[in-house]
This record gives sequence, C-alpha cells and structure tokens, in this order.
Amino acid sequence: MITDECINCDVCEPECPNQAISQGPEIYVIDPARCTECVGHYDVPQCREVCPVDCIPVDPAHVETKAELRLRYEGLMRNQSKGSEPQSKGSEP
Ligand code: SF4
Repeated sequence: MITDECINCDVCEPECPNQAISQGPEIYVIDPARCTECVGHYDVPQCREVCPVDCIPVDPAHVETKAELRLRYEGLMRNQSKGSEPQSKGSEP
C-alpha cells in the first residue's frame, strides 16, 4: 500500500513489473490484484527500493505468503501471454 506521505514523485510507477501502480485521485495507488511484491521478477519489491520517502509498507489487509504471491504472478503471466498474441499485422514496411 502507499500511504498519504506519498509526494507524487512518479519514480515507482515505471519500476513495477506488473503495472500495479498508477496515479490515483490524490496520490499513487497499488492495485492489490496485480501486486506480487515483485515475486517472480525480483528478490525485493522494486517500488520500496526506489521510494524516496519510504511510504510503501506491506498492506496489513493484504498480507500474503510467497506461495500466494507466486500464484498471482503465474496468473498475470498467463493473462499477459493471452492478451499479447496478435501483435503483428504484417503491414510493416
Ligand atoms: Fe509516492 Fe513513493 Fe511512488 Fe514517489 S515512489 S510516487 S513518493 S509512493
């Protein structure tokens, strides 16, 4: 979760490998349905590494095991590969 100490510096959004972070109405927000705490991608959550004000604690309402996070990661990867199949249209010069 991102607390209200967020200063909207924008550095965490591009670091998230799951596109779980976005600009909310006032501050950045994390979509818990997309957050794997970087399990499957990195050893540590990348947003927490880059946040200059350390305002991204684990959400007490979404404490999850590594196994649960890994399952989410695998689900996201499955959806991603389904959605990105018809990429080329064959009209490139
Ligand atoms: Fe907010 Fe921290 Fe993200 Fe910057 S890195 S936008 S302060 S949550």
